[in-house]
Amino acid sequence: MKKVTFMGGTHVDSFKELTSTYESKKAVPPDFVYIPLSQHIGAPCEANLCVGDEVLMGQEIGKTLGFVSAPIHSSVSGKVVSIEKKAHPTGRFVNCIVIENDKQDTMVASIKPEENPESLTREQIIKKVLDAGIVGLGGAAFPTHVKYTPPEQTNIDYIILNGIECEPFITADHRLMLEYSEPIVKGLGYILKATGAKKGIVAIEDNKMDAIEKLTQCCAEFSEIDVVVCKEKYPQGSEKQLIYAVTGREVPVGGLPLDVGVIVNNVGTAKAVCDAVEDNMPLIERMITVSGNSVDTPGNYVAKIGTLFSDLINQSGGYTEENNKILSGGLMMGKSMYSDEVPITKGTSAILVLKDEGQELPKEHTCVRCAKCVDVCPAFLEPTRLVVLTKTKEFTRLDEEQNIMSCIECGSCSYVCPANIPLLEYIRLGKQGVIKSKKK
Ligand code: SF4
Ligand code: SF4
Repeated sequence: MKKVTFMGGTHVDSFKELTSTYESKKAVPPDFVYIPLSQHIGAPCEANLCVGDEVLMGQEIGKTLGFVSAPIHSSVSGKVVSIEKKAHPTGRFVNCIVIENDKQDTMVASIKPEENPESLTREQIIKKVLDAGIVGLGGAAFPTHVKYTPPEQTNIDYIILNGIECEPFITADHRLMLEYSEPIVKGLGYILKATGAKKGIVAIEDNKMDAIEKLTQCCAEFSEIDVVVCKEKYPQGSEKQLIYAVTGREVPVGGLPLDVGVIVNNVGTAKAVCDAVEDNMPLIERMITVSGNSVDTPGNYVAKIGTLFSDLINQSGGYTEENNKILSGGLMMGKSMYSDEVPITKGTSAILVLKDEGQELPKEHTCVRCAKCVDVCPAFLEPTRLVVLTKTKEFTRLDEEQNIMSCIECGSCSYVCPANIPLLEYIRLGKQGVIKSKKK
């Protein structure tokens, strides 16, 4: 079996065995959902209902205020009890529509099977993707209809479905590929039609052989779709690294996948596209991993958008320790949460609960010039040099000579550094300095 990969990167302990072999469960519907009006990159939505209004499942409750945006729908039927600011997985406080769930799941009438989805035009498919509020489900949450509407004269050669999931602990995409392989492949078919791309590729790491087998079977009847196997390595799932591994094309610094004729979508996004095209179903639930060494029974759930982290942690048997760290997303690139009273959004792929052993951060030593950080950097940067220039506040050199802004913040450099230098923390400071100095 041919396997491809990118240059640089490292191997991290995966801890995926905690959840990867167990079938996902439908999460128990919560009494209340807290649906943020900002769940995507771009303009937040505006509430189009009021406190006291009755609402149906799948009803649009947040309308877009710009092209780079995506509407938001209710994940339950019930009554709006408040519109208030609430903590968000990004760490900000954003307006949320709070709905008391009547547990009837009464859906809007427009959610019904499309009579002849194969006959839909490119424009009709893109409109359905927009109306369904679909955004990238891998975490970036970029509005999907925008990706399918590139500037004129842009030729798209490849659609790559990202089934890599290289972050430790997370297995949501793995389970999705095993349990929903057909809608994923059908969704890819609709994406090919919407974009005019000739080739579809499902990229999967070689630590998910069962998913590779399943998707290969599903794709067998489609000559325009292939499954490509990637070697297990972190951060293989990062967009530019994946494009290089699969196509050999290099996205230029500051450029987009479109510049090399590629669109990358998460496998979950493809399933959401299929649901929207075939059933007119908006994006109101997603697969999410709840895992870590301080949650009783780790697992994967299909959960309604707006469910609180605490609800899902309780359904996983609750905390096994008193002191915990909670992360939204993966161990390497996820964000630390100060509370579990945070709702899941369209972009939330995992909740990690880790034992907080109160350890102090390891002592930082002097750089021993081993160059391990340079070897692993998938963006071909010199992390140790970036740290020196950040400390001396040479922001123009950081930007123009060292391309600091092309750091994808994967954390590989910090992970391998034998001197415990928090390279990524310094690099983030350097990037902030570059942004500020450019504004000046
Ligand atoms: S965090 Fe940035 S500098 Fe460090 S390895 Fe990743 S891309 Fe390179
Ligand atoms: S990995 Fe750490 S010790 Fe080695 S060169 Fe990079 S910064 Fe220095």
